Amino acid sequence: MSVMVDIRSVHKSFGTLDVLKGIDLQVRTGEVTVVLGPSGSGKSTLLRAINHLEKVDRGAISVGGTLIGYRRSGDKLYELPEREVLKQRTRIGFVFQDFNLFPHLSVLDNVIEAPVSALKRPRKEAVDDARRLLDRVGLADKADSYPGQLSGGQQQRVAIARALALKPKLLLLDEPTSALDPELVGEVLDVIKDLAGQGATMIVVTHEIGFAREVADTVVFMADGRIVEQGPPAQVLDDPRSERTQAFLSKVL
Ligand code: ADP
Ligand code: MG
Repeated sequence: MSVMVDIRSVHKSFGTLDVLKGIDLQVRTGEVTVVLGPSGSGKSTLLRAINHLEKVDRGAISVGGTLIGYRRSGDKLYELPEREVLKQRTRIGFVFQDFNLFPHLSVLDNVIEAPVSALKRPRKEAVDDARRLLDRVGLADKADSYPGQLSGGQQQRVAIARALALKPKLLLLDEPTSALDPELVGEVLDVIKDLAGQGATMIVVTHEIGFAREVADTVVFMADGRIVEQGPPAQVLDDPRSERTQAFLSKVL
C-alpha cells in the first residue's frame, strides 16, 4: 500500500518551548491512525503542521508524495511557495474540535464555500455534491438551517461534510467530539466510522478509546512532543509497553 503521509524527524518550537521533538510517522493510504496523548503533548501542533497551518523548524512532511513541510538539505531550509501550500491544503480536510462553521452562512453555503471559492467549481455542481454529502452525514433536511439552529453533533457533522466537499485525499480530525455533550458523541463517531469503512485516509486525535479500538489501523501515543508508542490498537491499548502509555490509559479508560 502506498504511503499517504510521511513525516520524518519533525521538530517544532514556540520560542523556548520544544513542542515536537523529532516525530516520525507514516500513514498508508486508506488507513486510520488515531493519536492519543495528554493535553499539551503536541497533537494539535502535529496535525496543524501536516496541514501547513504551522511551519516546522526541521524535518520533512509529505502528503501524497508532495512535500508540504520544510526540508533541510545541508544547511538549507526548503519552503514550498505559498501558492503550492494553498493548493496542497485544498487536498487535506481539517475538522476542528469547535466546528468552526461560518455562523452567517446556511449549512449548504458552508459546505459549498470552499469548492466554489477555492476550487472555482461551478455553483450548481457544488450544490449537487453538497446535498449528497449532507445526506451522507444524515443532515439532508438541514441544508437551509444556520449553524446556530443545530445541535453540536449536527454542527460537527456539517463540518465533516464541508471537509469532504474538497474531495480530500487526507482527512485530519482534531478531537472532533471533545466539545460535544456525551449523548451527541456517538452520532459523530458513527459518521467517522462510515468514512473509515469507505476507505478514507484519516488521522484522528481523540480520547475515545472504544472508537480507536474499533476503527484504528494504528494507534499512536504521544507525550511531551514525542511518539512514545505506536502499533495496532490491540497492542497499544491492551498491552502497552511503556509506563507512560499505561498511566495515560488507566486515566481515560
Ligand atoms: P495538544 O493538542 O496535544 O494538547 P498542542 O499541540 O496544542 O498540544 O500544544 C503543545 C504545546 O505547545 C502546549 O504547551 C501549547 O501551549 C504550546 N503551543 C501550541 N501552539 C502554540 C503557539 N501558537 N504559540 C505558543 N505555544 C503554543
Ligand atoms: Mg489539541
